[in-house]
Amino acid sequence: MKKRVDGSIKNKIPLCVPHIGKEDLMYIQHALKSNWVSSVGPDVERFESVVARESGRAFAVATVNGTSALHLAFLAMGLGPGDEVLVPTLTFIASINPIRYTGAWPIFMDAEPSFFQMDVAKTAEFLKNNCRRDGRSLINKSSGRRVRAIVPVHILGHPVDMDPLMVLARRYGLTVIEDAAEALGSVYRGRRVGSLGDMGCFSFNGNKIITTGAGGMVVTDNPEWAERIRYYSTQARCSSREDFIHDDIGFNYRLSNLQAVLGLAQMARFTHFLKRKHAIAKSYRESLKNIAGLRCIEDAPWCCSNSWLSAVCLAGEKPIPKLSVVRAHLALRGIESRPLWKPIHRQRPYRRCETYRLEWADWLHDRVLCLPSSVGLTWSDQRRVIASLKESVREAAQ
Ligand SMILES: *Cc1c(COP(=O)(O)O)cnc(C)c1O
Repeated sequence: MKKRVDGSIKNKIPLCVPHIGKEDLMYIQHALKSNWVSSVGPDVERFESVVARESGRAFAVATVNGTSALHLAFLAMGLGPGDEVLVPTLTFIASINPIRYTGAWPIFMDAEPSFFQMDVAKTAEFLKNNCRRDGRSLINKSSGRRVRAIVPVHILGHPVDMDPLMVLARRYGLTVIEDAAEALGSVYRGRRVGSLGDMGCFSFNGNKIITTGAGGMVVTDNPEWAERIRYYSTQARCSSREDFIHDDIGFNYRLSNLQAVLGLAQMARFTHFLKRKHAIAKSYRESLKNIAGLRCIEDAPWCCSNSWLSAVCLAGEKPIPKLSVVRAHLALRGIESRPLWKPIHRQRPYRRCETYRLEWADWLHDRVLCLPSSVGLTWSDQRRVIASLKESVREAAQ
């Protein structure tokens, strides 16, 4: 670590930044020369088929970001005012906001403490004890509203336990929309994340495993949903481009060709990106095991996470170091780290929403620390993170 004259630190290590290389520049230059820069152009469809293939799906529709991908998925399944959706509270707020865009309401489920994902057993319990059937509908006994969908969010890239979740969804007639924004390339029992529910949504924001600057994608095997998503993403145009006929209120949610080109360049190196993420996670695990007050996160035995963001849990043997103290210690050494999101049921727009037996979400929020995990993180920088973390855990625990 070097200090500049003004006292600021040189060689800061960011949490997770994009990996832009020569190839990206070449692809973009080519697109600029072709004049296909906006939301019409050959590369959007090319990018869609690459992501469809990667996620094991028949159809993919590209969108301006992951939030709009989720919004369109909810519209396609016909989610609307008064409907309810089961979601984890420990997630980024973009998993939840699009539910409200449609007029539907979230019901917040807990996270399980091993892998931090939506607790499927508690979700099952909620459905069994707190809902009743009314014809083909499932009614939430306390609100009287119709429960329509489950949104498992594969946080940090680690898959939710999807098999039991899908059994529940089929038993109760619920649609499953995976928020796979962080999880492109993760594998659950041999199957790609995004292909496990009825629809899957990805994000290509700057901090995700691949980036298009901003971008998103919905993937599905249902041709009607794919068609509807495409239609709503392009101003609900109901016929050819030449005549301006629109039979509903649509959105301007289509990804631009210029962004799609960046996506293609990034996907060309995706295998390498995945390898790097796995290697970073492995190095953290190997270097940080057997440290009092600190637990590394393993993959569940039934999956292979894309290891988008590596994390440690400050727990175990006492005294347990305080997260804010460890973060401050790392920040002083030029290392960026981040806690998990403040659970959504504590955020102002959602404070009055229903929750079910939340026991771990806040606990995890207080103890989990995300560590620098950029594809371009060098081994010498990672060593610096590891050494500083060990030192700060020792200090913070005293
Ligand atoms: C990034 C992210 C989103 C939203 O994606 P944007 O492209 O930023 O709109 C949704 N859900 C989760 C879990 C995310 O991490």
